[in-house]
Amino acid sequence: MRKKMRTRMILSLAGAALFCVPATWAQQQTDWSKVQIKATKVSGNVYMLEGQGGNIAASVGEDGIVIVDDQFAPLADKIQAALKDLKITDKPVRFVINTHYHGDHTGGNVPFNNAGSTLIAQDNVRKRLETGGTAGNGGSIKMENKPAEKAALPIITFEHDVTVHLNGEDIRALHFPSGHTDGDSIIFFPKNNVVHMGDDFVRYGFPFIDVASGGSVQGMIEAMEKATAQLPADVKVIPGHGAISNLDDVRAFTKMLKETSAVVQKAINDHKTLEQMKKEKILEPWAKWKGDFVNDDAFVETLYNSLTGHKGEFVKHN
Ligand SMILES: [Zn+2]
Repeated sequence: MRKKMRTRMILSLAGAALFCVPATWAQQQTDWSKVQIKATKVSGNVYMLEGQGGNIAASVGEDGIVIVDDQFAPLADKIQAALKDLKITDKPVRFVINTHYHGDHTGGNVPFNNAGSTLIAQDNVRKRLETGGTAGNGGSIKMENKPAEKAALPIITFEHDVTVHLNGEDIRALHFPSGHTDGDSIIFFPKNNVVHMGDDFVRYGFPFIDVASGGSVQGMIEAMEKATAQLPADVKVIPGHGAISNLDDVRAFTKMLKETSAVVQKAINDHKTLEQMKKEKILEPWAKWKGDFVNDDAFVETLYNSLTGHKGEFVKHN
């Protein structure tokens, strides 16, 4: 039941962030007044904030606050209030780091920017926010994004990595190319031993891979393997969506990605069509990963499009 609610939430946040969404998504109206922000201490002075949308990580200390991702604009005041309620500092949110461009992670950029925060993200996050376009798995999952207003665009961008030195910590944002999107970063808090994985690692089942925005399953696997090899064994993991996790959870997720990719690759090599793969239910052994947002058919499409380089049509807005 809880899982169902969780996936419903993901559906409604996708609907709220974007326009021209499928009818079933558009019907999901969010009552922002009912959303509550819950702050959980992860380790030391790093907190996780949950409301609606992607998880937020926050470093809260004597120099001020750094947050990773900012959910949706209507929640910005509640997020600010939740950070104040920790009663650790009266200093403002000085920096917002976006893990990627999707609206459920960057929706609060405008109000945080207006309140004086500096927005930081990988180069492609700014580009995709600026131009807008189609997000999707190259198949049944498809969402249109309008170009974002200027105030939503990161002021500081980087190609490979950037370090924010605040609260006695060297907070590192590391770019991994072509995973969930082409602008993903993983943010590591080395002193407190916490990492925010963005949507390269999620807990809602089969992941949404935005093949239309330069994402790929191969890149997601590579990012997760590199990250698990480099991070301390006992690092606390904040997923893009879902509960605080550890590296074993990340390994199980990566294993599923590799196994399902191999099965779809074999079917491609055997000259099976996408329709045949769906009909034959080739992902049935991984049925427990099926979700309402990304079901087995949608994930077969994702893998097929990712492995064959089919990105679906790209729509540009002016
Ligand atoms: Zn995302």
